[in-house]
Amino acid sequence: MLDNQKVLILNYSYEPLQFCTAKRGIIMVLSGRAEKIETNGYVVRSPNFSFPLPTVIRVLKMVRRNRRNRGKGVAFSKKNIMRRDNYTCQYCGVREKLLTVDHIIPKSRGGETNWMNVVVACKPCNLKKGNRTAVEAGMALNKKPFRPSFHYHSFVIPSASPEHLESWYKYLPPSLRARNVFN
Ligand SMILES: [Zn+2]
Repeated sequence: MLDNQKVLILNYSYEPLQFCTAKRGIIMVLSGRAEKIETNGYVVRSPNFSFPLPTVIRVLKMVRRNRRNRGKGVAFSKKNIMRRDNYTCQYCGVREKLLTVDHIIPKSRGGETNWMNVVVACKPCNLKKGNRTAVEAGMALNKKPFRPSFHYHSFVIPSASPEHLESWYKYLPPSLRARNVFN
């Protein structure tokens, strides 16, 4: 059971860092490297051990990340577009394997290949939109595309119970609160 449950790790500054297994999260708390921030009411029990299952923990020492990239932002790549958009079609909200990237204003129409004009789309939406702009096709975007300012590594939101998702929600950047995950 512990391996299926995920814990959101926050930096000392409360900025989300990554998800880990509940087991690792509990070890971090017990070893004094992190503190419990949120629990969901479950208690982990074994013969000589009982511990409220955390859903969110916070490290007690600031973790410095990707210093090299600071200021420069995240590299523009298909992989990072997928991460930014949380592997979710920005038109219909589907999360599936057959995702591609879509130019909101098609390349053939002068659309640029950059953070503001490229979003994740499923194959059917991409096909349906064809050579039209999103506006022409009457296809609304889930959210406005943006240039991400931090690394999205590890930021696929794991599947979890609604209570777990709820407890993570307020700590995650708005870009990750995908419509289909949180409602
Ligand atoms: Zn779609």
